[in-house]
Amino acid sequence: MKVGILGGGQLGLMLARAARDLGVEPLVLDPKPNAVAGQVARHLAVDWENDAAQDALAECDVVTYEFENVPTSVVEKLAARVPVHPSPAALAISGDREREKNLFRELGIETAPFAVVNTRDDLDRAVAQIKLPAILKTRRFGYDGKGQAVLRSETDVEEAWARLGDRALILEGFIPFDREVSVIAARASDHSMRFWPITENEHVDGILHISRAPAADVSPALLESARNALESIMVKLDYVGVLVVEFFLLGDRLIANEMACRVHNSAHWTIEGSATSQFENHLRAVAGLPLGKTDMSGYTSMINLVGQLPELDALADDPDIHVHVYGKSPAPGRKLGHVTVTADSRDALEARTRRVRDVVGDREPC
Ligand code: AMP
Repeated sequence: MKVGILGGGQLGLMLARAARDLGVEPLVLDPKPNAVAGQVARHLAVDWENDAAQDALAECDVVTYEFENVPTSVVEKLAARVPVHPSPAALAISGDREREKNLFRELGIETAPFAVVNTRDDLDRAVAQIKLPAILKTRRFGYDGKGQAVLRSETDVEEAWARLGDRALILEGFIPFDREVSVIAARASDHSMRFWPITENEHVDGILHISRAPAADVSPALLESARNALESIMVKLDYVGVLVVEFFLLGDRLIANEMACRVHNSAHWTIEGSATSQFENHLRAVAGLPLGKTDMSGYTSMINLVGQLPELDALADDPDIHVHVYGKSPAPGRKLGHVTVTADSRDALEARTRRVRDVVGDREPC
């Protein structure tokens, strides 16, 4: 069996590894000649639209993606020739913050107040309606906090417009959240679903810094509404694959921020922390196989390695600390690897996580 993967970054690398473990042959399309998934998969380093690459992908049994910004037209053309999961419709919605929020609202899932902004006048109207503080975000192509600005004063409004005003935007009310969590699920082609424990995330400068699973103090009611939210999205989109929705927790309110129709950084801990990783279950889903169990025993955290790789040898003596280095060249804000920590208790997890943070160095907001 062959799976085509659109995008060859670290998510593609870990998907391709999981594919190989399952005996599935991965074929990666990514225009970047040094895309890291090329370490373990045949890599077509040509434009998304390249005809020969489209033909090669159309010969796979199924095509999936690890990157939200693959041109929708490319995915739609492919879907006419080969099964593509998750569907091109899911990809188009998750790549557009307005469509994503409208879907959440249609399904009764709370979002931050928001307004679409295309002109400077729209921005003034949106600020008057939503009030400051607020966050101005690009509707498309935003990730890891890129393409956004927090607006606290009129001066911020001017500056943000000067920086982002040439693109389609959305203004969101600022949510003074208590915590951020990810809800991670997989849905198979027979419509069965599995959920991983809820994961709590800490971001620095909009980039994920640490995830911990299971999140502490999640009430049964909250768990149920989180799962219902994902189930309603997956049923609505006739979804096959891994879906991750990031929520803000504010008191007992669950406010959806965004969704990823693909494997996600906040679920990397599932490689060591769960019976089946997100990568394996994504592959299983898109390949029409039954999903693996998502149970976890114990506690897990995941610390991202961003910008520069620290000297990691100091962590090698602990069998409950697992280092993953992707093979990318260093650059500010670039995710170069991650470290997963496992433990039998929360206290042991925090002690081990502290050790990793001391080696890795905590990123401070700049
Ligand atoms: P995003 O690219 O939408 O995931 O945003 C990156 C990070 O910015 C989030 O994980 C939050 O920490 C913060 N953020 C985004 N939107 C909001 C919001 N409406 N209110 C408060 N914080 C936000």
